[in-house]
Amino acid sequence: MLTALAGGVGAAKFLSGLVAVVDPASVTAIVNTADDDEFHGLRISPDLDSVTYTLAGAQNVAQGWGLAGETFATMDALDRYGVPTWFRLGDRDIATHLFRTQALAAGAPLSEVTARIAAAWGLATRLLPVTDDPLATRITVRRADGREETLRMQEWFVKERSESPVVAVGFAGAETATPGPGVLEAIAGAETVIVCPSNPVISIGPILAVPGVREALVARRDRVVGVSPIIAGAPVKGPADRLMDPLGIEVSCVGVARAYADFCSTLVIDSRDASRVAEVEAAGVRAVVADTLMTDSRIAAALARETLASVA
Ligand code: GDP
Repeated sequence: MLTALAGGVGAAKFLSGLVAVVDPASVTAIVNTADDDEFHGLRISPDLDSVTYTLAGAQNVAQGWGLAGETFATMDALDRYGVPTWFRLGDRDIATHLFRTQALAAGAPLSEVTARIAAAWGLATRLLPVTDDPLATRITVRRADGREETLRMQEWFVKERSESPVVAVGFAGAETATPGPGVLEAIAGAETVIVCPSNPVISIGPILAVPGVREALVARRDRVVGVSPIIAGAPVKGPADRLMDPLGIEVSCVGVARAYADFCSTLVIDSRDASRVAEVEAAGVRAVVADTLMTDSRIAAALARETLASVA
């Protein structure tokens, strides 16, 4: 049994490499839900959907989110009513949100709805929302006039294109959230726990913020291996740098090592960062150098193999 902590696209690419080299049914992914939000009355779970669609081979690679071959007629039609459509939902993707929203309204917990969606897409891999409880990333930004404002994650990331300078990040609901069914067991019982290359602040951060999860990882530290999402001092994509820097986390594999050191014994860093091995190890984390830029499925599979071998 292998367990992975996952955000969205970076994690999804890694997981598709992983299920190419091990039995997909032996993998459990614990997925961030703090990016979840509601638009047009529909419950959206971006990271769960990115992982589901990618493992099903149905993801839109060029766009970086949503389904391949997607159309946006519903969004265009909504424009007539003057409702905000800055958060784009594809026509076929909306079916997932309709299904999820209805099932949640009928009383099913998110974990159960997620399992039904994963089964409908033919996935053998188990996807566990980190919690069934409300959990929401809140990003406090500073406006040009010096005033601070707290935004929902999607407002900052999509509507404001991650441009507004960040002063703080919080996870609403974290104090009272409980880990979803199977989450702590998946960490305790895994042969290896992999921290996927995901945004350390807003994808891995909320997973760690659910009470009990970080402690469960600390107890398995020897078997926890991370893959750095930062290569040569920059994220591969997305706004990790715009979140790490204001929070005092160096935007490098060394910063990731320091942030994960209490629960992660090994970090896979990119070959472009080979010169930083000593600094990673000074943080108390063993460094393993590999090609971590997953530009194709062959590289993702090789990275998964090397990640597993690094803690063999
Ligand atoms: P998001 O919620 O869709 O942004 O997804 P994640 O949190 O999973 O992924 C974002 C992080 O994944 C970013 O910090 C990226 O730098 C990282 N990432 C994306 N693709 C790759 C890759 O091919 N290799 C590595 N090492 N990191 C990646």
